[in-house]
Amino acid sequence: MTGTIERASTAVIGRIVSIEAAAPLVSVVRVRPDDAFDWRAGQFAALRFPDFEIRNYSISNRPGEGEIEFHIRDNGGGVGAHVASTASVGDPVEIAGPFGSAYFRRRHGGPLLAIAGGTGLAPMKAIVEDALATGHAGDVHLYFGVRDEPDIYLEQHFIALTRAHLNFRFVTVLAEPGEPTGRRHGLVGAAVAADFQLLYGYQCYVAGPPAMVQACRDALRLKSVPAHDIFADDA
Ligand SMILES: Cc1cc2nc3c(=O)[nH]c(=O)nc-3n(C[C@H](O)[C@H](O)[C@H](O)COP(=O)(O)OP(=O)(O)OC[C@H]3O[C@@H](n4cnc5c(N)ncnc54)[C@H](O)[C@@H]3O)c2cc1C
Repeated sequence: MTGTIERASTAVIGRIVSIEAAAPLVSVVRVRPDDAFDWRAGQFAALRFPDFEIRNYSISNRPGEGEIEFHIRDNGGGVGAHVASTASVGDPVEIAGPFGSAYFRRRHGGPLLAIAGGTGLAPMKAIVEDALATGHAGDVHLYFGVRDEPDIYLEQHFIALTRAHLNFRFVTVLAEPGEPTGRRHGLVGAAVAADFQLLYGYQCYVAGPPAMVQACRDALRLKSVPAHDIFADDA
């Protein structure tokens, strides 16, 4: 989807400081902005790489870390393919934003549920890390749905967080496993629905493909989550 630099609250130039292949089709890209750029956990930015269309990408780290991190998927063209194959450390990137209203509400002390589909993991990572780093008292659950095993990324990172924070639980769910696996399988929203009888009192954050987000909204409403406790920005 195309973003618009014009509606930005801030537009800065940044430089790529690292590009890591986290999964066969997902690069984790870190950018250091030349000027101050602030955001809330869960928001997104509009990025302009030289010679490419503006694209929106969720910010996958907490505010205040200096560098800004993104998870960029290669769909076979455009920015995703550029980042996977031709972009280099030191390249400039125009960053505009922050945008989005599905950011973490730090004042909520109760339980949190974050549901990610594919690179929807990016904003959910920022939210979960912000909650855990700020000493969130309630339980924090992260469900990560992907198509198949190779699409899972940052798993060890989240497993390490479960060891460091007793209130954090991380579940991966494979929608279409190519071969038998010990992992959960099915749709990520269905896995959440199976695991919780009632979710009243939870704040729920969802990011991923539009159909997945809508399915999760429906599932959460059936578990008694009011609409105002479900946060998602349309992708
Ligand atoms: C609020 C918001 C947040 C977003 N956050 C992220 C994020 O964190 N990470 C991320 O990777 N993307 C994210 N996106 C999507 C991103 O903005 C781009 O739309 C996407 O990366 C495709 O842009 P591109 O330039 O790589 O490919 P394009 O040049 O637009 O397309 C290249 C090829 O890929 C196909 N294609 C495009 N999108 C998809 C798709 N979703 N699935 C399958 N094929 C596709 C096209 O049809 C075309 O054939 C977000 C979008 C929004 C609106």
